[in-house]
Amino acid sequence: MTTADDHTLLRRAIALAATARESGNPPFGSLLAAPDGTVLAEEHNTTLTDRDITAHPELKLARWAARELAPATAAETTMYTSCQPCGMCEAVIRQAGLRRVVYALSNEQLLDIRPGSGRPPVPQDGPALLDEVRAAVEPYYR
Ligand SMILES: [Zn+2]
Repeated sequence: MTTADDHTLLRRAIALAATARESGNPPFGSLLAAPDGTVLAEEHNTTLTDRDITAHPELKLARWAARELAPATAAETTMYTSCQPCGMCEAVIRQAGLRRVVYALSNEQLLDIRPGSGRPPVPQDGPALLDEVRAAVEPYYR
């Protein structure tokens, strides 16, 4: 459930999406907010101008939060984003330990606007060479 305060911050994320589009990038914008609504950081998509397929605003902000915020502060921080985070960004947001994500446009709604944008999964083969990989990995965790 979103509130009027959420909508105020979502409107800022949507404005950042417009900034992305105006700068020649796909139209996605996001921000991080403290519990009192203070904006901590803002980003917009720069995948084209940076020639970086990972330059989604949600991923850049999650990395920023993990680097710049104490874990307890991150756990109180909300991400507001113009579109629901993709799978890549969702995983990094989880790693950053953010409290909550509030989005305007769902991924399903985005597919209605931009059909055919999904990519097939890349095949993965494994596990293999268990003894060899365990020798490399296990000492780290012991
Ligand atoms: Zn993403």
